[in-house]
Amino acid sequence: MRQVRLTGLIMAGTIALVASSMHLVIPQATPAIAEVIPCNQEVARSTANGSKTELRADCHPAGSRINVKGVALTVPDVGTGIGLADVMPAGAGAGTALTVFNDGQTIIIADQNATATEGPAPYASLPKCSDNSWIWTGYKNPSFNYYISTAGRPGSVSAADFSAEVSFAHNVIDQDINACGLTTGTSSVSITNKGTTTRRSMTTDGSCGGAQKDGYDNIDFGPLSGSAIGRTCWYYSTSITEADVRLNSATGWFRTLPNPCSSKYEMASVLLHEFGHVFGLAHVDEATHPNLVMSTNSTACSYQDHHWGWGDYNNMTAHY
Ligand SMILES: [Zn+2]
Repeated sequence: MRQVRLTGLIMAGTIALVASSMHLVIPQATPAIAEVIPCNQEVARSTANGSKTELRADCHPAGSRINVKGVALTVPDVGTGIGLADVMPAGAGAGTALTVFNDGQTIIIADQNATATEGPAPYASLPKCSDNSWIWTGYKNPSFNYYISTAGRPGSVSAADFSAEVSFAHNVIDQDINACGLTTGTSSVSITNKGTTTRRSMTTDGSCGGAQKDGYDNIDFGPLSGSAIGRTCWYYSTSITEADVRLNSATGWFRTLPNPCSSKYEMASVLLHEFGHVFGLAHVDEATHPNLVMSTNSTACSYQDHHWGWGDYNNMTAHY
């Protein structure tokens, strides 16, 4: 009797597994593309949600490397995507923010901001607690179980200060700490410090995917391309399954504001911005929302971004 029950369970499990993996490879009923894209060519698309670039998936199989807007990425598995977003220093451009999704026929590269829906107006350069704008990527992260790697940090940053700043940003996420007097502890976010690791968050050139999609959420210092001071890589299908965060090891950093200060960034402020990406928050425009944490550029020599602003807070509490 017991043996019969066990067999039934195994069969049921096997059927569920087959159905689940079949679902991933069945082509969409309506093809994503109307014409055949020439191999090794990019096709620009203009959609209601902004611009996209499409590549033929059979020309760029999962696991191969592609260069997108100056960033090397590994093509994700069918049915999954990779997101990448940079935070830039004050005065620089908006930096790279994109998603790469492989639907089996097409690799769809979308500007992360352009494909998102901006939150409530007004769109103006308002103070941090008067600006209720936010953009949601559409993907939640059920749990961020992160490990800290201190090996690549610059000599000017102690391992203890790095860990303390990670904890600071962790606490803001966990408790919805904001600069606006809004109620704390309202969201239900799963964030856990799992200790230290020797794993790295990204490749040596700061790209996402490949071996760095290792199933672990890792935070470290290391090289980043361009002038990005921080970067998050996230991996998703119907929700975010892994997220990795890196601070640029060539940037000047502080935990306690130095005096004098020039072109140095508070670690907790940039980490909080990156943790926003980890949980599915997208960028808001720097020109019109400069005082929100999720604007594209960080302010030097300031603690400005280490607590949520109004729109940031509402984005988190609306989704968690
Ligand atoms: Zn960002």
